[in-house]
Amino acid sequence: MKNKNTILLGAHTSAAGGVHNAIYEGRDIGATTVQLFTANQRQWKARSIAQDEVVLFKQALQETGLSHIMSHDSYLINLGGPDVEVLTKSRDAFREEVIRCLQLGISYLNFHPGAALKAPVEDCLKRIVESVLGVRDLFTGKENLKLVVEVTAGQGSTVGACFEEIAYIVHALKDELPIGVCIDTCHVFAAGYDIRTAEGLDKTLNEFNVIVGLDYLTAFHLNDSKHDLGSRLDRHEQIGEGKLGIECFKAIMQHPKLQSMPKYLETPGGPPFWVKEIALLRSFV
Ligand SMILES: [Zn+2]
Ligand SMILES: [Zn+2]
Repeated sequence: MKNKNTILLGAHTSAAGGVHNAIYEGRDIGATTVQLFTANQRQWKARSIAQDEVVLFKQALQETGLSHIMSHDSYLINLGGPDVEVLTKSRDAFREEVIRCLQLGISYLNFHPGAALKAPVEDCLKRIVESVLGVRDLFTGKENLKLVVEVTAGQGSTVGACFEEIAYIVHALKDELPIGVCIDTCHVFAAGYDIRTAEGLDKTLNEFNVIVGLDYLTAFHLNDSKHDLGSRLDRHEQIGEGKLGIECFKAIMQHPKLQSMPKYLETPGGPPFWVKEIALLRSFV
């Protein structure tokens, strides 16, 4: 068992006023890591990071001791859609995301696979792979950055709600780029994987291992779910207050294979709630 205080646990904190602020907010809520947006997640206009911001960010990391920082890509990006104009914009924006992560020395770029819209799922998956391969030239092999594809709830025409689709993406990219997977507990449950108990979690992880490979599992988003198993609805709830329930989170925190993986809350309520949720989750270790 890992030391309670060194487990990598945090939340998606606010980068308002500069990315370094997300790090300090993490420290203030008792986190050891955080997830953040490196740009406005609802605007196409790409923002580049100024050198003094890089300095402030690295200083914040040094001061606080936070590590394994995850960036979440913009909600507007669809790496697998059929519309050429949106696809081009998405690929450009994704490239900017990667560049900002490399500048800041961020460990993980969490990205949503994409949505097929009215096109076949197979085409969408192929386009996602092509889109991600478009950033290959930014990697020399010396970077600390891993691209992490997030398991989705399968809302609308979103792909990546089953391990087979995640496997397709990961296996197509694994020899080309550093690639991993983030399991969001709300999403995977809404997608139909019953992780409410320790047994259910084990069964799901076994399935993940057979289809994708446990070696690719990199991180967790810890969220309870407002909606039921298989609802395919992506609505986060506070830990223990939703349809998943507290047992699921106890099982994740205590699972020997998941101990060293970073875990980020994206639960509603913000810092006052995250303080309590982090303390609660840590008490399970
Ligand atoms: Zn998530
Ligand atoms: Zn979600």
